[in-house]
Amino acid sequence: MSESPHTADVLKGFGTTIFSEMSALAAATGAINLGQGFPNYDGPREVLDRAVAEIRSGNNQYPPGIGMSDLREAIAQHQMRFWNLTYDSETEVLVTAGATEALAGALLGLLNDGDEVVVFEPMYDSYMACIAMARARAVPVLLRPQNDGRYVFDVGKLRNAISPRTRAILLNTPHNPTGTVFTRAELETIASLAREHDLVVISDEVYEHLVFDDAHHIPIATLDGMRERTITISSGGKTFNTTGWKIGWACAPSPLLTAVRTAKQFLTYVNGAPFQPAIAVGLSLPDSYFTEISDDLRHKRDVLLTGLEKAGFTTYKPEGTYFVTADIRPVDPDGDGLAFCRRLPHTHGVVAIPNGVFYSPEHAHEGHYLVRFAFCKTFDLLERAVERLCVGVA
Ligand code: PMP
Ligand code: GLN
Repeated sequence: MSESPHTADVLKGFGTTIFSEMSALAAATGAINLGQGFPNYDGPREVLDRAVAEIRSGNNQYPPGIGMSDLREAIAQHQMRFWNLTYDSETEVLVTAGATEALAGALLGLLNDGDEVVVFEPMYDSYMACIAMARARAVPVLLRPQNDGRYVFDVGKLRNAISPRTRAILLNTPHNPTGTVFTRAELETIASLAREHDLVVISDEVYEHLVFDDAHHIPIATLDGMRERTITISSGGKTFNTTGWKIGWACAPSPLLTAVRTAKQFLTYVNGAPFQPAIAVGLSLPDSYFTEISDDLRHKRDVLLTGLEKAGFTTYKPEGTYFVTADIRPVDPDGDGLAFCRRLPHTHGVVAIPNGVFYSPEHAHEGHYLVRFAFCKTFDLLERAVERLCVGVA
């Protein structure tokens, strides 16, 4: 999709999402798609069966605006079971069209013209576009790799990013694309600034269950004084391998949730009636399901990491999510991630995403030589991709 003269000023420069471009390239070339983050395997049987049964039994009309009660209750129980967070399923839980709509609802529902939102970059690509659509301003704070490869923020820079116009901090943990899982100390720093400046925190936790090794996911709403100022967002897509269903949610105290809901009702109004009770079934699965998905993904991560290193890339080991960031400079001295990703499907039959797109234009150079590979794929597919990449990617 090229830019059109009809496009509204606030959307100029956003063009086509990289995910559409790269998945179209994968389809056109038949390359292995390690770009867009979606699994090439299905979610749990019980979840799929429930969706089929719901369709067959006639749950095919508009669900309630706030979401079906089974799902809202399952979300509230999930927040309690895993994170010890209490939400009233009648007034503090909202079902949305994926986490994407919850994010859009939060940003459009809360922000006024000229408000500022502090965002950590690299960042998921819808953040900048939604902040722009709200006619607000994104103020990016860079995450940069330390010597051990873990991406972290500079506390001084975070503090300096906050101004009298700041309305919210937009956080994503576990973090796409770097794989950082924010530590308690990092979250305490963010929380203390939010409390000091009376800011709302919008916390995107879609990868909450995809965490490895010694990392632990901590919802920022669990920290002192934070529940009342946090909108916690997640979705069933990542946890139940159902990215195409687009069932997401937001949890927040009623005054904050009302602002999100006011915007959300005029975006899609509602979506996915038969999928809502199915995701409720997923959220109610035993703890073992959630442990098994992260164990399985940790093995997949290790296969991809080892393979990428063997192919000559420098990699950044993710603590969570299903993405690995890799530095292409050892295999491609030009170090142009976008050109590399556009070439790779043709030369090696593999698709990746250039990390440059996850940065604001002024910091695009930070991600220029980085690319992201997804490992939510069956072992055979990962192994085939690695074999292809090992045949000299330069
Ligand atoms: N946030 C992040 C960080 C993501 O990676 C994604 C990926 N899909 C989303 C939000 C959107 O989630 P959904 O598909 O549920 O809209
Ligand atoms: N969240 C997924 C990713 O980062 C997919 C995003 C999308 O297709 N919009 O790859």
